[in-house]
Amino acid sequence: MERKACVIGAGIGGIATALRLNKDGWKVTVFESSAEPGGKIKQIQKDNYRFDTGPSLFTLPALVDELFELYNENPRHYFDYKKLENVTRYFYPDGTTINARQNPQEFADEIENKTGEPASNVLTYLKHAEKLYQLTANTFIFSPFTLNQIFTRDFLRAGLNFRKLNALKTMHQVNELYFSDPRVIQLFDRYATYNGSDPFQTPGTLSVISHLEHNIGAFFPKHGMHEIVQSLFEFSKQNNIRFSFQDPVNEIILKDNLAKGVKASSGDYYFDAVVTNADVFQTYGRLLSKKKIPSKILKQERSSSALIFYWGINDTHEHLDVHNILFSNNYKEEFNQMFTHKNIYEDPTVYIFISSKAVKSDAPAGKENWFVMINAPANKGQQWDTLIDEARKNIITKINRMLKTDIEPKIEFEELLDPRKIEEQTHSFQGALYGNSSNSMFSAFQRHGNTAAIKNLYFTGGSVHPGGGIPLCLASASITAYEIKKQHK
Ligand SMILES: Cc1cc2nc3c(=O)[nH]c(=O)nc-3n(C[C@H](O)[C@H](O)[C@H](O)COP(=O)(O)OP(=O)(O)OC[C@H]3O[C@@H](n4cnc5c(N)ncnc54)[C@H](O)[C@@H]3O)c2cc1C
Repeated sequence: MERKACVIGAGIGGIATALRLNKDGWKVTVFESSAEPGGKIKQIQKDNYRFDTGPSLFTLPALVDELFELYNENPRHYFDYKKLENVTRYFYPDGTTINARQNPQEFADEIENKTGEPASNVLTYLKHAEKLYQLTANTFIFSPFTLNQIFTRDFLRAGLNFRKLNALKTMHQVNELYFSDPRVIQLFDRYATYNGSDPFQTPGTLSVISHLEHNIGAFFPKHGMHEIVQSLFEFSKQNNIRFSFQDPVNEIILKDNLAKGVKASSGDYYFDAVVTNADVFQTYGRLLSKKKIPSKILKQERSSSALIFYWGINDTHEHLDVHNILFSNNYKEEFNQMFTHKNIYEDPTVYIFISSKAVKSDAPAGKENWFVMINAPANKGQQWDTLIDEARKNIITKINRMLKTDIEPKIEFEELLDPRKIEEQTHSFQGALYGNSSNSMFSAFQRHGNTAAIKNLYFTGGSVHPGGGIPLCLASASITAYEIKKQHK
């Protein structure tokens, strides 16, 4: 008899789980409260500009390819991308510019030329990051994180090498051990923000992230980031996965601690397995409101959120690349304001992502599409309108000063995304970009797993194991599908 599963949410984790279950012979329906797929991976197309509104950095593209390959299809027929030779261009308050080449040797040479930090230190650091990846990826990213895990060879290997994991030091402390130039330390500290954390708190183990960008590579989809999710969505439809848009699930139907189906806006439906791609807080708080909330798991600190201005710029800037960072003058205070005071620092690090540098059609000729983002605290009901007005002024002053321009008169299009809107649009609790923060060495152990105490209920996506960001959401989907296969033999 055909087995039926549903997925609540068409974020990338939800779609990837649907594709995997469908391949395993399940009839899958995806319920999505908004009108389109993608969750946090959306786009704006207006006034001849196109903006990716969410993710902009793309690593481990093989995890996307794998979903097409599961169906014996050539991914290149559906989705294409290229490697970026320059990953990020860094601008410092003292006028230094570092062009972070992807190639480790070129990157190290550039750092030595611009700062005097020996190239060999960078190469040693990246070698260590590679080793960390080999030690941790199977245990912490690509496997279910359950008690059984601790009896596996990979876990044992990670345990035996515990000292090398740098879990007892913060990322910043580890970076200080490798480098003496504060600009280089700041550059490598920034990797903490890739999962919404604070380099002055997050464990040194997360320095593994630099391995993804500089040893494996940073990539960019041929038609922009939105193409990742759009191609997976089209491929899902082609493979008979059913999508029900503007159809929020209001409750997960339970009987005797067994998930039986969902109450969606369009009606009640029954399934053999229910997968939730909705934020874990929402799943317990709203969809399972009669169940006891696993408070220990849900008490953890949320990751950072973001404030983003999408600006259509009536000019071109040759000294900028696809990814550009204008660093803060006081990184420590920036994170202190964000995580301790839930505030925005007056001199924030400004990230300018210009997809039209890679995809010409994303802006009219002679113009550029600027995605100007600063990290922001999770939404705790701050006076956002005031904070946003101040931040906009500070960002413009900073851009003018550091890029020697007068940007405001060149802005001919503007839209804004803030923590409140992220929360409202994707139901991500407090507008967190990456679920929980990783600001403690226990974060990985405290994240909600992919299974639940409720039978036939499964969790997938950035708010559960192994965490947020596109690659981890894809890993989450793979683990969830594996758990379902194991429990429904
Ligand atoms: C501004 C921004 C920048 C980012 N930058 C990067 C980056 O550079 N690189 C990177 O890898 N990652 C980045 N991320 C993080 C990345 O986007 C997320 O980790 C990932 O997209 C989350 O996917 P998900 O599967 O958890 O689902 P989500 O994208 O959170 O989607 C969940 C979906 O579930 C739906 N839903 C929720 N509740 C219900 C319900 N009750 N009924 C029906 N549907 C429901 C929502 O509408 C939503 O569509 C960024 C995110 C943001 C917002």
